[in-house]
Amino acid sequence: MKNLVILGGGYGGMRILARLLPNELPEDISITLIDRTPYHCLKTEYYALAAGTISDQHVRVPFPEHSRLNIKYGEVTEINLKENKVYLKENEPVSYDDLVIGLGCEDKYHNVPGAKEFTYSIQSIEKSRQTYQALNNLPPGSVVSIVGAGLSGVELASELNESRPDLKVKLFDRGNHILSAFPVRLSTYVENWFDNHNVEIINNSNITRVEEGTLYNHHEPIQSDIVVWTAGIQPNKIVREMDVEKDRQGRIILTPHHNLPENEHVYVVGDCASLPHAPSAQLAEGQAEQIVDILLKRWNNQELPEQLPTIKLKGVLGSLGKKHGFGLVADRPITGRVARLLKSGILWMYKYHNG
Ligand SMILES: Cc1cc2nc3c(=O)[nH]c(=O)nc-3n(C[C@H](O)[C@H](O)[C@H](O)COP(=O)(O)OP(=O)(O)OC[C@H]3O[C@@H](n4cnc5c(N)ncnc54)[C@H](O)[C@@H]3O)c2cc1C
Repeated sequence: MKNLVILGGGYGGMRILARLLPNELPEDISITLIDRTPYHCLKTEYYALAAGTISDQHVRVPFPEHSRLNIKYGEVTEINLKENKVYLKENEPVSYDDLVIGLGCEDKYHNVPGAKEFTYSIQSIEKSRQTYQALNNLPPGSVVSIVGAGLSGVELASELNESRPDLKVKLFDRGNHILSAFPVRLSTYVENWFDNHNVEIINNSNITRVEEGTLYNHHEPIQSDIVVWTAGIQPNKIVREMDVEKDRQGRIILTPHHNLPENEHVYVVGDCASLPHAPSAQLAEGQAEQIVDILLKRWNNQELPEQLPTIKLKGVLGSLGKKHGFGLVADRPITGRVARLLKSGILWMYKYHNG
């Protein structure tokens, strides 16, 4: 038996399992999935978990069951490419014949002093739970500063406003407009929504330091009972420590077949991979589908295509509380209730197909 080891049962890892397991897995291949959590976590919903508008159980999906799927729960501490082994914190190392690294990403603090120590996060389920507790234990009138108004900062600010209208939410962003990756029309729609809901937006900000209870914008202190950091991501520490070629964001550079240039048995999926689009769950899933095609071809000694088709992305949808939303679908901006309904529908479908 050959062992395919998948590190991380996130969006990328889970899609690989979903495609291989029902009928596609060759008889001589078994799979070992390694993750620190005993279920697949819906990371795209962490903003709502942190705000306190959904329960913990709502963001969990059980991993699939299969006679040739072995699931190991544990913390990956090192990937040793020379030994073909993955080291775990409290278990024996696991050997692989093929490896898929899908360990996701972590916050990036851009060397802002105090940011790592004094801000809360929504990048992992453990940290989102801590953020939930901190935010929801705040007394009325407390100030919550959210740094970074990309998709996750905007979703957290609006959801928190809905969950705790008694708090003062401030949203800090570097640009002239929030949601810099979106057309200005959408950013303006969302800015107006925040204006109408008493969320303060501080544009052109530059956070220079964070201390307990204080955020410094351009060195000016701003009293903040809690600061949540949503201002940048970087690949998982395990990947950052690997001695392989990376792009400027620290993501691993891959061949067109999604494996390491020097090793056709090691693939990288999702937020850790250098791809021509910004990281997203959708991208991780699209890439996972291509990795499955390549794995099957290699296992069956079939010829590989020189290039793979471009991964098609359908668009992005963001929520503004439970009733409004915004997004780009097939490059067309949409706003309001329809956008929110679409987002809820996609989540429902995802859970239906994976649960
Ligand atoms: C608030 C928020 C909203 C978002 N909204 C959207 C959206 O609307 N649409 C969209 O497409 N994307 C969205 N994203 C981005 C999306 O969640 C990520 O791009 C996606 O999760 C990446 O998938 P992945 O498989 O690379 O990693 P992940 O889904 O993050 O999975 C990584 C897995 O690795 C495990 N893991 C990590 N380190 C270790 C370790 N050392 N040992 C063992 N296990 C480990 C984790 O437990 C996890 O299961 C959002 C992100 C956030 C934070």
